[in-house]
Amino acid sequence: STDFEAPDFYGIDDLLTEEQKLVRASMRAFVNREISPIIEECAQRGAFPESLPRKFGEIGAFGPTIPTEYGGGGLDAICYGLMMQEIERGDSGMRSCVSVQSSLVMWPIYAYGSEEQKRKFLPRLAAGEWLGCFGLTEPDHGSNTAGMQTSFVEHDDHYRLNGSKLWITNAPVADVAVVWAKNSQGRVQGLLVERGMDGFSTPEIHGKWSLRASTTGELVFQDVKVPKENRLPGVDGMKGPLSCLDQARYGIAWGVVGAAMDCYDSARRYALERQQFGKPIASFQLVQKKLAEMLTEITKAQLICWRLGVLKNEGKATTAQISLAKRANVEMALHVAREARQVHGAMGVSGEYPIMRHLMNLESVITYEGTHDIHLLILGNEITGIPAFK
Ligand code: FAD
Repeated sequence: STDFEAPDFYGIDDLLTEEQKLVRASMRAFVNREISPIIEECAQRGAFPESLPRKFGEIGAFGPTIPTEYGGGGLDAICYGLMMQEIERGDSGMRSCVSVQSSLVMWPIYAYGSEEQKRKFLPRLAAGEWLGCFGLTEPDHGSNTAGMQTSFVEHDDHYRLNGSKLWITNAPVADVAVVWAKNSQGRVQGLLVERGMDGFSTPEIHGKWSLRASTTGELVFQDVKVPKENRLPGVDGMKGPLSCLDQARYGIAWGVVGAAMDCYDSARRYALERQQFGKPIASFQLVQKKLAEMLTEITKAQLICWRLGVLKNEGKATTAQISLAKRANVEMALHVAREARQVHGAMGVSGEYPIMRHLMNLESVITYEGTHDIHLLILGNEITGIPAFK
């Protein structure tokens, strides 16, 4: 809701710089103004708010950590995390749109692109003039992305790309797709496939019960002629897509705290207002238990985010640390959403409150960017040195 009050039980604000707090405040105001008033209706209709990308561009939500010379915000990782938290407090689908653009499209172009690619794509993506998508998952290769079948062969001045990608956020409206595909030696490389290239189509996936305001689709490549200058020259192998996922998962770890805060805040208010048996339901111990546990779990998640943000700013955050944060925080948010749904009684399933929307959204968030169990196995591998997922 627009009168949202963020819980800060451990005074984590004292750990933030003035700039970080300012960035959060401006994003919170943006969400109140541009997302909260329209999101329920968009989600109910299953419609992506197509005017939002431009507005995200204006507020600086796209590529906040990319240097300003390429149109980015030049901000630190904690600012980025706080932005994701605020946007996901509005809706996980809107945060997904922003995560994809910033971490999965702009970041690889910045990290692995040629100077020409950076100059051509980054400023337009930062402004929200163009929207991007990230094609890694395939119909037969989800968790096992290294087994991908999409491939390209070299011709004189171009490549011929064939294959398909499934479950791609932003695909139906994307102007450019970062596509991971195998070359003739079987090495995974990144191609920038642009809207309008012959043989490239992006059919929409309909009927999702989750992230309904976010648009998801397929990427289909039928002999698509991709100019050689559209290959990302700076990376080779699975490190390409996996390093992008680290960036995006970091943002998810922060984002879901926003969804959990919104559920908690709504449950706390509702419990104080709703009367049963002659008193507010907040007077009952079982309701207090739910609220107390929600606050406890949110507080732990906030501390994980803040510390991970410091490590990321120092260039030290590892894949396994990011897996722990993504996994623990998404589970936390889902649990908080389920408990908040119960506190709201029947109202918990109604679109008058954001709870059911958050709850359904988080069911995608726990699966995408590495499923809950795959992150557990990444941690298992870190602890034991034995990869159990192969
Ligand atoms: P599978 O890999 O088939 O897994 C099914 C189940 O089996 C899971 O529970 C999984 O944990 C389990 N499992 C699989 N392997 C193992 C193992 N070795 N050990 C134990 N358990 C295992 N992808 C993109 O590339 N770009 C996007 O923009 C994007 N957006 C998405 C948006 C939405 C709304 C959704 C739902 C998905 C999106 N995805 C995207 C795809 C997402 O990343 C995949 O769904 C995810 O990686 C899981 O793959 P899968 O669905 O094929 O499940």
